[in-house]
Amino acid sequence: MNTKVIIGIGANLNNPLEQVKLALTEIAQIKNSKLLKCSSLYETKPVGPQDQPKFINAVAILETSLTALEFLDELQALENSHLRKRIIHWGPRTLDLDILFWGNEEINNERLIVPHKEFSNRVFTVLPLLEIEPNFIYKGTPLKNLVSTLPQDDLDAFVKIK
Ligand code: ATP
Ligand code: CA
Ligand code: CA
Repeated sequence: MNTKVIIGIGANLNNPLEQVKLALTEIAQIKNSKLLKCSSLYETKPVGPQDQPKFINAVAILETSLTALEFLDELQALENSHLRKRIIHWGPRTLDLDILFWGNEEINNERLIVPHKEFSNRVFTVLPLLEIEPNFIYKGTPLKNLVSTLPQDDLDAFVKIK
C-alpha cells in the first residue's frame, strides 16, 4: 500500500542552495517511492542559535511503499552522504531531512515522531506546504488559518529564491 509522505528539507552550510537541489534529485530516486510535488526553494531565518547562516528550505510530497522507518533510513543515509555532522542542537547543517507527515498516521517511537512536533510553529514548513497544498487540513483546521499565528520576524525573513 502506498503512503503519502511529506518531508521538510533544510540546509545552511557548504552552498546550501546546491545541497538542497542535489537532495531533491536524490530524494526523487529513493527506492519504491515517487516524488509527486516539490515547493519552491526559500531562504529562511534559522531556528535556535541565530549566529549561523540563513537556511534554504523546501517541502516535498512523495508516495512510497516503504515503511516509515525504512523511509527514515533512506533520508538519514542521504543526510550522511551530504557529510552531515550533528554537533550543536538546532545548529548549522549541510542537510536536514524531516518527515513532517506520514499519511494521516500518528507515529511515536524513539526514532520517529510524526506529525513532526514543530511543524505548525515553523514558517519554513507551513508556507512551502501551503504553496503546493493550499487546502491542506491540519488537525481539523485549514492550514492557511495558521499563518497569522506564526512569528512575524520569521515571516518577514521568509524569501522565495527559486
Ligand atoms: P527538529 O526535529 O526540531 O527539526 P533537528 O531536525 O535538528 O530538530 P535532528 O538532529 O535532525 O533534529 O534529529 C534528531 C533525531 O530526531 C533523529 O535521529 C531522528 O531519529 C529523530 N526524529 C524524530 N522524529 C523525526 C521526524 N519526524 N523526522 C526526522 N527525524 C525524526
Ligand atoms: Ca529539522
Ligand atoms: Ca532532522
